[in-house]
Amino acid sequence: MIGVALLGATGSIGTSALAVLRQHRERFRVVALAARSDWQGLLPLIEEFEPAVCALEDVGAAIALREALSRHRTNVRVEAGTDAVMAVAEMSSVSVVVAGISGFAGLPSTWAAVAAGKQVLLANKEALVASGELLLSKARESGATVLPIDSEHNAVFQCANGLNCDASRVRSITLTASGGPFRTRALDTFDSISVAEACKHPTWAMGRKISVDSATLMNKGLEVIEAALLFSRPSDDIHVLIHPTSTVHALVEYVDGSVLAHLGPADMQVPIAHALAVSAANLGQSISRLPLSLPSLSLSTLGGLEFFDVDSKRFPALGLAYHALRQGQGACLTLNAANEVAVAAFLAGSIRFTDIIATVERTLDSEEMTNPQSMDDVFAQDAGVRARVALLLAEGATV
Ligand code: MG
Repeated sequence: MIGVALLGATGSIGTSALAVLRQHRERFRVVALAARSDWQGLLPLIEEFEPAVCALEDVGAAIALREALSRHRTNVRVEAGTDAVMAVAEMSSVSVVVAGISGFAGLPSTWAAVAAGKQVLLANKEALVASGELLLSKARESGATVLPIDSEHNAVFQCANGLNCDASRVRSITLTASGGPFRTRALDTFDSISVAEACKHPTWAMGRKISVDSATLMNKGLEVIEAALLFSRPSDDIHVLIHPTSTVHALVEYVDGSVLAHLGPADMQVPIAHALAVSAANLGQSISRLPLSLPSLSLSTLGGLEFFDVDSKRFPALGLAYHALRQGQGACLTLNAANEVAVAAFLAGSIRFTDIIATVERTLDSEEMTNPQSMDDVFAQDAGVRARVALLLAEGATV
Protein backbone atom coordinates (compact mmCIF):
# COMPACT_ATOMS: atom_id res chain seq x y z
CA MET A 1 0.00 0.00 0.00
CA ILE A 2 1.24 3.44 -0.93
CA GLY A 3 0.69 6.10 1.73
CA VAL A 4 -0.73 9.38 0.43
CA ALA A 5 -0.96 12.79 2.11
CA LEU A 6 -3.39 15.29 0.66
CA LEU A 7 -2.57 18.95 1.24
CA GLY A 8 -5.66 21.01 0.49
CA ALA A 9 -7.94 18.00 1.00
CA THR A 10 -11.23 19.91 0.96
CA GLY A 11 -10.41 22.10 -2.05
CA SER A 12 -10.93 21.47 -5.73
CA ILE A 13 -7.71 19.45 -6.24
CA GLY A 14 -8.25 17.49 -3.03
CA THR A 15 -11.76 16.55 -4.09
CA SER A 16 -10.57 15.33 -7.50
CA ALA A 17 -7.66 13.42 -5.94
CA LEU A 18 -9.99 11.69 -3.50
CA ALA A 19 -12.30 10.76 -6.39
CA VAL A 20 -9.34 8.94 -7.98
CA LEU A 21 -8.10 7.40 -4.71
CA ARG A 22 -11.62 6.18 -3.92
CA GLN A 23 -11.43 4.04 -7.08
CA HIS A 24 -8.01 2.61 -6.18
CA ARG A 25 -8.13 1.68 -2.52
CA GLU A 26 -6.28 -1.57 -3.22
CA ARG A 27 -3.17 0.41 -4.10
CA PHE A 28 -3.28 3.69 -2.14
CA ARG A 29 -4.04 4.47 1.47
CA VAL A 30 -4.91 8.02 2.54
CA VAL A 31 -2.64 8.50 5.56
CA ALA A 32 -3.08 12.23 6.12
CA LEU A 33 -5.46 15.02 5.19
CA ALA A 34 -4.59 18.70 5.54
CA ALA A 35 -6.77 21.76 5.03
CA ARG A 36 -6.74 25.43 5.95
CA SER A 37 -9.88 25.76 8.05
CA ASP A 38 -12.71 23.65 6.58
CA TRP A 39 -13.07 21.18 9.43
CA GLN A 40 -16.69 20.41 8.51
CA GLY A 41 -15.47 19.39 5.06
CA LEU A 42 -12.95 17.01 6.65
CA LEU A 43 -15.54 15.18 8.80
CA PRO A 44 -17.04 12.95 6.07
CA LEU A 45 -13.55 12.37 4.61
CA ILE A 46 -12.27 11.15 7.98
CA GLU A 47 -15.18 8.75 8.19
CA GLU A 48 -14.65 7.47 4.66
CA PHE A 49 -10.84 7.28 4.42
CA GLU A 50 -9.85 6.81 8.09
CA PRO A 51 -6.57 8.74 7.87
CA ALA A 52 -4.06 8.54 10.73
CA VAL A 53 -3.65 12.33 10.92
CA CYS A 54 -5.56 15.48 10.01
CA ALA A 55 -3.79 18.84 10.05
CA LEU A 56 -5.57 22.18 10.00
CA GLU A 57 -3.69 25.39 9.41
CA ASP A 58 -6.26 27.27 11.50
CA VAL A 59 -5.97 26.48 15.22
CA GLY A 60 -9.62 27.30 16.00
CA ALA A 61 -10.75 24.94 13.25
CA ALA A 62 -8.56 22.17 14.65
CA ILE A 63 -10.14 22.62 18.08
CA ALA A 64 -13.61 22.49 16.51
CA LEU A 65 -12.68 19.30 14.63
CA ARG A 66 -11.33 17.63 17.80
CA GLU A 67 -14.54 18.55 19.60
CA ALA A 68 -16.70 17.15 16.79
CA LEU A 69 -14.65 13.95 16.64
CA SER A 70 -14.90 13.37 20.37
CA ARG A 71 -18.44 12.17 19.69
CA HIS A 72 -17.19 9.63 17.12
CA ARG A 73 -15.22 6.46 17.59
CA THR A 74 -12.06 7.35 15.69
CA ASN A 75 -8.32 7.16 16.22
CA VAL A 76 -7.45 10.07 13.95
CA ARG A 77 -4.96 12.56 15.40
CA VAL A 78 -5.81 16.23 14.82
CA GLU A 79 -2.92 18.70 14.63
CA ALA A 80 -2.92 22.48 14.17
CA GLY A 81 -0.80 25.13 12.48
CA THR A 82 1.50 25.51 9.47
CA ASP A 83 4.11 23.31 11.15
CA ALA A 84 1.56 20.52 11.46
CA VAL A 85 0.71 20.73 7.74
CA MET A 86 4.45 20.60 6.98
CA ALA A 87 4.89 17.62 9.32
CA VAL A 88 2.16 15.73 7.46
CA ALA A 89 4.14 16.16 4.24
CA GLU A 90 7.21 14.66 5.92
CA MET A 91 5.62 11.59 7.58
CA SER A 92 7.60 8.39 7.03
CA SER A 93 4.41 6.45 6.21
CA VAL A 94 3.69 8.92 3.38
CA SER A 95 5.31 8.29 0.00
CA VAL A 96 3.10 10.48 -2.18
CA VAL A 97 2.13 14.06 -1.38
CA VAL A 98 -0.57 15.84 -3.35
CA ALA A 99 0.31 19.54 -3.11
CA GLY A 100 -3.14 20.99 -3.72
CA ILE A 101 -3.09 24.08 -1.51
CA SER A 102 -3.73 27.17 -3.63
CA GLY A 103 -1.35 30.12 -3.64
CA PHE A 104 1.91 31.04 -1.92
CA ALA A 105 0.34 29.71 1.31
CA GLY A 106 1.09 26.21 -0.01
CA LEU A 107 4.83 26.82 -0.31
CA PRO A 108 5.95 25.74 3.20
CA SER A 109 4.26 22.34 2.95
CA THR A 110 5.23 21.84 -0.71
CA TRP A 111 8.83 22.66 0.24
CA ALA A 112 8.63 20.21 3.19
CA ALA A 113 7.41 17.42 0.88
CA VAL A 114 10.18 18.12 -1.62
CA ALA A 115 12.86 18.33 1.08
CA ALA A 116 11.64 15.00 2.50
CA GLY A 117 12.20 13.31 -0.88
CA LYS A 118 8.57 12.41 -1.59
CA GLN A 119 6.75 11.80 -4.85
CA VAL A 120 5.20 15.27 -5.07
CA LEU A 121 2.12 15.72 -7.24
CA LEU A 122 2.33 19.45 -7.83
CA ALA A 123 -0.87 21.42 -8.39
CA ASN A 124 0.37 24.43 -6.42
CA LYS A 125 1.88 26.45 -9.28
CA GLU A 126 2.37 29.58 -7.14
CA ALA A 127 4.88 27.71 -4.93
CA LEU A 128 7.00 26.90 -7.98
CA VAL A 129 6.61 30.34 -9.58
CA ALA A 130 7.72 32.06 -6.35
CA SER A 131 10.62 29.77 -5.44
CA GLY A 132 11.65 28.58 -8.90
CA GLU A 133 14.93 26.77 -9.25
CA LEU A 134 15.39 26.69 -5.45
CA LEU A 135 12.50 24.20 -5.17
CA LEU A 136 13.69 22.10 -8.11
CA SER A 137 17.30 21.92 -6.95
CA LYS A 138 16.03 20.89 -3.50
CA ALA A 139 14.18 18.03 -5.23
CA ARG A 140 17.36 16.92 -7.01
CA GLU A 141 19.23 17.04 -3.70
CA SER A 142 16.62 15.08 -1.69
CA GLY A 143 15.67 12.60 -4.41
CA ALA A 144 12.09 13.91 -4.55
CA THR A 145 10.19 13.55 -7.81
CA VAL A 146 8.04 16.49 -8.88
CA LEU A 147 5.13 15.32 -11.01
CA PRO A 148 2.96 18.07 -12.50
CA ILE A 149 -0.80 17.69 -12.11
CA ASP A 150 -1.62 21.11 -13.50
CA SER A 151 -3.51 19.73 -16.52
CA GLU A 152 -1.40 21.47 -19.20
CA HIS A 153 1.91 20.48 -17.63
CA ASN A 154 0.77 16.96 -17.06
CA ALA A 155 -0.20 16.92 -20.75
CA VAL A 156 3.30 18.09 -21.74
CA PHE A 157 4.76 15.44 -19.43
CA GLN A 158 2.69 12.79 -21.23
CA CYS A 159 3.54 14.07 -24.75
CA ALA A 160 7.26 14.32 -23.92
CA ASN A 161 7.23 11.07 -21.92
CA GLY A 162 8.70 12.80 -18.88
CA LEU A 163 10.17 16.13 -17.88
CA ASN A 164 12.98 15.99 -20.44
CA CYS A 165 12.17 18.55 -23.15
CA ASP A 166 15.79 19.04 -24.12
CA ALA A 167 16.34 21.21 -27.22
CA SER A 168 18.00 18.26 -28.99
CA ARG A 169 14.57 16.58 -29.22
CA VAL A 170 11.86 19.15 -28.45
CA ARG A 171 11.52 22.39 -30.46
CA SER A 172 8.65 24.02 -28.58
CA ILE A 173 5.89 23.56 -26.04
CA THR A 174 2.37 24.95 -26.48
CA LEU A 175 -0.05 25.35 -23.59
CA THR A 176 -3.70 25.90 -24.38
CA ALA A 177 -6.00 28.34 -22.56
CA SER A 178 -9.78 28.25 -22.71
CA GLY A 179 -9.81 32.06 -22.74
CA GLY A 180 -12.01 32.05 -19.64
CA PRO A 181 -15.43 33.68 -19.34
CA PHE A 182 -14.45 36.97 -21.05
CA ARG A 183 -12.94 35.74 -24.31
CA THR A 184 -15.60 37.48 -26.37
CA ARG A 185 -16.99 40.07 -23.93
CA ALA A 186 -16.85 43.70 -25.13
CA LEU A 187 -13.60 45.21 -23.86
CA ASP A 188 -15.24 48.49 -22.82
CA THR A 189 -17.37 46.57 -20.28
CA PHE A 190 -14.41 44.95 -18.45
CA ASP A 191 -14.55 47.64 -15.74
CA SER A 192 -17.93 46.38 -14.59
CA ILE A 193 -17.08 42.66 -14.38
CA SER A 194 -18.45 41.25 -11.12
CA VAL A 195 -16.86 38.68 -8.81
CA ALA A 196 -19.56 36.16 -9.69
CA GLU A 197 -18.93 36.64 -13.42
CA ALA A 198 -15.17 36.27 -12.98
CA CYS A 199 -15.55 33.08 -10.95
CA LYS A 200 -17.77 31.38 -13.52
CA HIS A 201 -15.33 29.43 -15.68
CA PRO A 202 -16.75 28.00 -18.93
CA THR A 203 -14.96 24.61 -18.94
CA TRP A 204 -13.32 23.87 -15.55
CA ALA A 205 -14.84 23.84 -12.03
CA MET A 206 -12.15 25.34 -9.77
CA GLY A 207 -11.50 27.45 -6.67
CA ARG A 208 -12.12 31.22 -6.70
CA LYS A 209 -8.50 32.41 -6.93
CA ILE A 210 -7.62 30.25 -9.94
CA SER A 211 -10.97 31.08 -11.57
CA VAL A 212 -10.15 34.80 -11.42
CA ASP A 213 -6.63 34.04 -12.69
CA SER A 214 -8.20 32.17 -15.61
CA ALA A 215 -10.44 35.14 -16.37
CA THR A 216 -7.47 37.55 -16.54
CA LEU A 217 -5.28 34.84 -18.15
CA MET A 218 -2.74 35.35 -15.35
CA ASN A 219 -3.24 31.65 -14.70
CA LYS A 220 -1.74 30.95 -18.12
CA GLY A 221 1.03 33.43 -17.41
CA LEU A 222 1.90 31.57 -14.19
CA GLU A 223 1.72 28.33 -16.18
CA VAL A 224 4.21 29.62 -18.77
CA ILE A 225 6.65 30.28 -15.91
CA GLU A 226 5.82 26.88 -14.40
CA ALA A 227 6.51 25.20 -17.76
CA ALA A 228 9.79 27.07 -18.25
CA LEU A 229 10.95 25.80 -14.84
CA LEU A 230 9.66 22.23 -15.05
CA PHE A 231 10.81 21.57 -18.60
CA SER A 232 13.93 23.80 -18.53
CA ARG A 233 13.06 25.86 -21.59
CA PRO A 234 13.36 29.61 -22.23
CA SER A 235 10.29 31.81 -22.66
CA ASP A 236 10.66 31.95 -26.47
CA ASP A 237 10.08 28.19 -26.73
CA ILE A 238 6.82 28.18 -24.78
CA HIS A 239 3.69 29.28 -26.61
CA VAL A 240 0.07 29.81 -25.64
CA LEU A 241 -2.99 29.28 -27.83
CA ILE A 242 -6.61 30.04 -27.00
CA HIS A 243 -8.64 26.85 -27.35
CA PRO A 244 -12.17 27.43 -26.02
CA THR A 245 -13.30 23.83 -25.37
CA SER A 246 -10.24 22.77 -23.30
CA THR A 247 -10.08 19.48 -25.20
CA VAL A 248 -6.41 19.70 -26.18
CA HIS A 249 -4.43 20.56 -23.04
CA ALA A 250 -0.95 20.97 -24.49
CA LEU A 251 1.16 20.20 -27.57
CA VAL A 252 4.82 19.26 -27.84
CA GLU A 253 6.61 19.97 -31.12
CA TYR A 254 9.63 17.77 -31.75
CA VAL A 255 12.69 18.84 -33.75
CA ASP A 256 11.62 16.63 -36.70
CA GLY A 257 8.31 18.51 -37.01
CA SER A 258 6.16 15.89 -35.28
CA VAL A 259 3.61 17.46 -32.96
CA LEU A 260 2.10 15.37 -30.17
CA ALA A 261 -1.04 16.71 -28.52
CA HIS A 262 -2.75 15.57 -25.35
CA LEU A 263 -6.55 15.38 -25.48
CA GLY A 264 -8.87 14.48 -22.66
CA PRO A 265 -11.97 15.44 -20.72
CA ALA A 266 -11.64 18.70 -18.77
CA ASP A 267 -11.53 16.85 -15.46
CA MET A 268 -8.64 17.05 -12.99
CA GLN A 269 -9.02 13.35 -12.20
CA VAL A 270 -7.22 12.64 -15.49
CA PRO A 271 -3.87 14.33 -14.74
CA ILE A 272 -4.05 13.20 -11.09
CA ALA A 273 -4.61 9.54 -12.07
CA HIS A 274 -1.70 9.75 -14.51
CA ALA A 275 0.68 11.22 -11.93
CA LEU A 276 -0.45 8.75 -9.25
CA ALA A 277 0.34 5.90 -11.66
CA VAL A 278 3.78 7.35 -12.40
CA SER A 279 4.47 7.75 -8.69
CA ALA A 280 3.39 4.15 -8.04
CA ALA A 281 5.72 2.96 -10.82
CA ASN A 282 8.52 5.07 -9.34
CA LEU A 283 7.88 3.31 -6.02
CA GLY A 284 8.38 -0.09 -7.62
CA GLN A 285 4.87 -1.14 -8.60
CA SER A 286 4.34 -2.53 -12.09
CA ILE A 287 1.73 -0.15 -13.38
CA SER A 288 1.51 2.42 -16.14
CA ARG A 289 -2.09 3.70 -15.96
CA LEU A 290 -4.89 3.80 -13.42
CA PRO A 291 -8.33 3.28 -14.96
CA LEU A 292 -11.00 5.95 -14.37
CA SER A 293 -14.71 5.72 -14.94
CA LEU A 294 -15.12 9.07 -16.73
CA PRO A 295 -17.13 9.23 -19.97
CA SER A 296 -14.99 8.88 -23.12
CA LEU A 297 -14.17 11.97 -25.10
CA SER A 298 -16.41 12.21 -28.17
CA LEU A 299 -14.68 14.15 -30.93
CA SER A 300 -17.56 13.70 -33.38
CA THR A 301 -19.96 15.27 -30.86
CA LEU A 302 -17.49 18.08 -30.36
CA GLY A 303 -17.42 18.70 -34.12
CA GLY A 304 -14.13 20.61 -34.34
CA LEU A 305 -11.13 21.97 -32.49
CA GLU A 306 -10.56 25.74 -32.65
CA PHE A 307 -7.34 27.57 -31.84
CA PHE A 308 -6.65 31.33 -31.75
CA ASP A 309 -3.72 33.56 -30.89
CA VAL A 310 -4.02 35.44 -27.60
CA ASP A 311 -5.27 39.04 -27.92
CA SER A 312 -2.73 40.93 -25.82
CA LYS A 313 -5.05 43.95 -25.38
CA ARG A 314 -7.74 41.78 -23.88
CA PHE A 315 -5.28 39.75 -21.79
CA PRO A 316 -2.28 41.92 -20.80
CA ALA A 317 -1.44 39.49 -17.96
CA LEU A 318 0.20 37.02 -20.31
CA GLY A 319 2.69 39.56 -21.63
CA LEU A 320 3.55 40.57 -18.06
CA ALA A 321 4.31 36.96 -17.16
CA TYR A 322 6.61 36.55 -20.18
CA HIS A 323 8.29 39.81 -19.21
CA ALA A 324 8.81 38.58 -15.63
CA LEU A 325 10.16 35.25 -16.87
CA ARG A 326 12.76 37.04 -19.02
CA GLN A 327 13.73 39.26 -16.08
CA GLY A 328 14.36 36.45 -13.62
CA GLN A 329 13.19 34.78 -10.42
CA GLY A 330 12.77 38.01 -8.43
CA ALA A 331 10.35 39.31 -11.03
CA CYS A 332 8.40 36.02 -11.12
CA LEU A 333 8.08 36.10 -7.33
CA THR A 334 6.93 39.73 -7.50
CA LEU A 335 4.40 39.00 -10.25
CA ASN A 336 2.90 36.19 -8.18
CA ALA A 337 2.74 38.10 -4.88
CA ALA A 338 1.24 41.23 -6.47
CA ASN A 339 -1.33 39.12 -8.31
CA GLU A 340 -2.37 37.24 -5.15
CA VAL A 341 -2.91 40.48 -3.24
CA ALA A 342 -4.78 42.10 -6.13
CA VAL A 343 -7.02 39.06 -6.72
CA ALA A 344 -7.86 38.93 -3.00
CA ALA A 345 -8.76 42.66 -3.14
CA PHE A 346 -10.98 42.05 -6.18
CA LEU A 347 -12.70 39.08 -4.47
CA ALA A 348 -13.26 41.29 -1.41
CA GLY A 349 -14.95 43.86 -3.62
CA SER A 350 -12.37 46.60 -3.04
CA ILE A 351 -10.95 46.92 -6.58
CA ARG A 352 -12.30 46.49 -10.11
CA PHE A 353 -11.46 43.54 -12.37
CA THR A 354 -9.26 45.72 -14.58
CA ASP A 355 -7.34 46.94 -11.52
CA ILE A 356 -5.96 43.44 -10.89
CA ILE A 357 -3.50 43.39 -13.77
CA ALA A 358 -2.94 47.16 -13.60
CA THR A 359 -1.76 46.61 -10.01
CA VAL A 360 0.57 43.79 -11.03
CA GLU A 361 2.03 45.89 -13.85
CA ARG A 362 2.56 48.90 -11.61
CA THR A 363 4.27 46.72 -9.01
CA LEU A 364 6.59 45.13 -11.57
CA ASP A 365 7.48 48.62 -12.87
CA SER A 366 8.21 50.04 -9.43
CA GLU A 367 9.95 47.22 -7.58
CA GLU A 368 13.69 46.81 -7.21
CA MET A 369 13.94 43.13 -7.97
CA THR A 370 16.72 40.86 -6.87
CA ASN A 371 16.73 37.12 -7.35
CA PRO A 372 16.20 35.18 -4.09
CA GLN A 373 19.19 33.07 -3.05
CA SER A 374 17.45 31.04 -0.34
CA MET A 375 14.00 30.15 0.91
CA ASP A 376 14.39 32.80 3.61
CA ASP A 377 14.86 35.33 0.78
CA VAL A 378 11.72 33.99 -0.95
CA PHE A 379 9.58 34.46 2.16
CA ALA A 380 11.08 37.88 2.97
CA GLN A 381 10.71 39.20 -0.59
CA ASP A 382 7.18 37.85 -0.91
CA ALA A 383 6.18 39.56 2.35
CA GLY A 384 7.79 42.81 1.21
CA VAL A 385 5.94 42.86 -2.11
CA ARG A 386 2.63 42.06 -0.40
CA ALA A 387 3.07 44.93 2.06
CA ARG A 388 3.89 47.41 -0.70
CA VAL A 389 0.98 46.27 -2.91
CA ALA A 390 -1.43 46.50 0.04
CA LEU A 391 -0.24 50.07 0.59
CA LEU A 392 -0.62 50.87 -3.09
CA LEU A 393 -4.20 49.58 -3.02
CA ALA A 394 -5.00 51.38 0.22
CA GLU A 395 -3.88 54.62 -1.37
CA GLY A 396 -6.17 53.87 -4.30
CA ALA A 397 -3.25 54.53 -6.60
CA THR A 398 -4.49 52.27 -9.37
CA VAL A 399 -8.22 52.90 -9.05
MG1 MG B 1 -3.78 24.56 -15.67
